[in-house]
Amino acid sequence: MSFKIKIDKALCKSCGLCLGVCPKKIMVISERKNRLGFRVAACMDEKKCTGCMACAQVCPDMAIEIFQEEQE
Ligand code: SF4
Ligand code: SF4
Repeated sequence: MSFKIKIDKALCKSCGLCLGVCPKKIMVISERKNRLGFRVAACMDEKKCTGCMACAQVCPDMAIEIFQEEQE
């Protein structure tokens, strides 16, 4: 089973909370900025994601969605 992490760049405020709660430590603050000038969070290794949803739950701006992907 694999997971896809979708981050709504426009909503991210670069708070870093998702980095702290991820048990796999795969969330990072990227170099990309959104229109408000915040550097947006990103997942650097989706293959390691367990789908625990901790990042999505902690995000105060509800910027993260986790999708389950069927494996081929
Ligand atoms: S769902 Fe869990 S393992 Fe996956 S990126 Fe979010 S906090 Fe990390
Ligand atoms: S918790 Fe949400 S707002 Fe904060 S850095 Fe992560 S995605 Fe962005």
